[in-house]
Amino acid sequence: ETVIEAKGLTKRYDTATAVDSVNFSVAAGEIFGLLGPNGAGKTTTILMLLGLSDISAGTARVFGHDPMREPLAVKRRVGYLPDLVGFYDQLSAADNLHYTARLMGMSLGERKRRIPEALARVGLADVAGKKVGAFSRGMRQRLGLAEIVMKDARVAILDEPTNGLDPQASLELLDLIRALKAQGVSILLSSHLLDRVQTVCDRVALFNAGKIALMGTVEELGRQV
Ligand code: ADP
Ligand code: ADP
Repeated sequence: ETVIEAKGLTKRYDTATAVDSVNFSVAAGEIFGLLGPNGAGKTTTILMLLGLSDISAGTARVFGHDPMREPLAVKRRVGYLPDLVGFYDQLSAADNLHYTARLMGMSLGERKRRIPEALARVGLADVAGKKVGAFSRGMRQRLGLAEIVMKDARVAILDEPTNGLDPQASLELLDLIRALKAQGVSILLSSHLLDRVQTVCDRVALFNAGKIALMGTVEELGRQV
């Protein structure tokens, strides 16, 4: 089963083509990595999949939905962790999740059940009542994953999830990403680092200047580079 599909996906800006006829698909249950240097087109690809950026040419499908025509259908099913995840610094971790869950229309009963569970899953149970303003970047990223868990998203799109994390926090986050996969969540993640991140990926696409230069399993690519 294919959960995300890009065919000839293209984004042209006035000055440049950020994403140039990209083809890839993410199968149910896998972790697929978009890897490549800064400026290669990874974020732009993600924004198009989410319906947050117009598609210049080609098609994107998320669970068969066209993000341009049905952005809400896509948003409901996808958990998105942007490069810089925004929370209300003056609210606690739990209250941030309550706020988002209310906007999603989740009942109080459901929130009271799911939010502590989600915070526990990412190791933030002890600081559920602490203001997010005091959180480290690693804790914010984990709170972002908690939001995805709370939402019970079947697909998670994570943009540079380990960016700015120290090695320890980075490893912890990768473990949580593996745990999400073990729960049956399909994951698309991006990274400009070609080291630890790809160890969690089943398959990767190497982006360069808006194009996919190489695609395959990490083992296959290891033999080519
Ligand atoms: P990555 O996520 O791989 O770092 P991006 O998708 O952010 O790459 O950027 C790809 C290219 O598109 C870069 O050259 C970037 O400067 C350009 N770009 C991104 N967003 C815009 C925009 N809104 N307008 C013009 N150019 C953009
Ligand atoms: P679109 O809705 O077409 O996807 P965006 O909302 O991503 O466009 O960007 C709006 C404008 O912001 C762009 O037209 C561009 O002028 C500017 N911009 C944003 N990011 C970048 C970037 N990385 N490089 C150059 N310009 C950018």
